[in-house]
Amino acid sequence: MGYLFLRTFKFFSTAPSFKFNFHFLSVLILLSLSNPLFSMEEELSIIQKTEQNFELRLYARNFAQGEIIQIRIKPLKEGIFSEKFKLVADGKIVSLSPWKGEMIGFIPIHPERKPGSMIIELHSRKLYVNRKMKKYEIDIGATDFLVIKKQSIKLDKKFTQKKYDSKTLKFIEDCTKAKTIAFASSTPLQIKSGFQYPVSVVSFSSPFYVRRDYNEKKGRPHGGVDFRGKAGTPIFAVNDGKVVLAREMYFEGNFTIIDHGNKIFSFYMHQSKLLVKPGQKVKKGQKIGLIGSTGMSTGPHLHLGVKVADTLVHPLALLAFKDI
Ligand SMILES: [Zn+2]
Repeated sequence: MGYLFLRTFKFFSTAPSFKFNFHFLSVLILLSLSNPLFSMEEELSIIQKTEQNFELRLYARNFAQGEIIQIRIKPLKEGIFSEKFKLVADGKIVSLSPWKGEMIGFIPIHPERKPGSMIIELHSRKLYVNRKMKKYEIDIGATDFLVIKKQSIKLDKKFTQKKYDSKTLKFIEDCTKAKTIAFASSTPLQIKSGFQYPVSVVSFSSPFYVRRDYNEKKGRPHGGVDFRGKAGTPIFAVNDGKVVLAREMYFEGNFTIIDHGNKIFSFYMHQSKLLVKPGQKVKKGQKIGLIGSTGMSTGPHLHLGVKVADTLVHPLALLAFKDI
């Protein structure tokens, strides 16, 4: 079965004025976005294909490592959603949710996934007229994550010492367990609109996936984005969801995890104060805590992390879906 290349153009342009060969255009887009790690760029790119019964659209800030693809299926005929259908990307099933008369899903691109072709398969008897499935191919670009080779960072001794006492070890173990349980939560999509920033004044201090080599030892990539902020600055939920964890942790400090449904989580570290409780439903923009420097932190800031389908992705890639 031949792969189909799709029409590509910028989301906010009124209409595509030129039709290009898809491959040529996808290269153009990757170059034009040039992967800004701290980008405030919120313009999305779209890849679109119109079939006889439906329209398939893929949105992303950047079709590249560490980003998120939003996939949407819009029916052009009644009844085509009456049968369940299956969407597979990179060999993994993507769960879809009803969304304003369409179906919506989110595909994480692991920061260490090899750049190149991604195959998206759509299996359905009703969507297609004379076939049961179709494959679509898109191009995933590379992202230049920052590596800081040497940097002397003073950390509290309790985080650098190799041996923990048994009480600390037990606490760390307990924290890990609580996190595993929280991220295992699985709820239907809970959001009703797009995402927003977790702070009112946005300024970044550390990008996603930067690798710092602490004291000349190879460090782990940074699993989120750090927002600057004074201790006590309010932190807001990036979208509606359910609090699945809100407690003190050894490394994360006062830590909150929000389940937005469909395996999308946002999490907030190092808070000076937690203002929500596990099990509580929160609304987009609701104050959930205050910025602090608890846990493994060198000064007050908010570390925001995002997980989609068990993959850590660039939080700003999720926040870019602000009008969905
Ligand atoms: Zn951080």
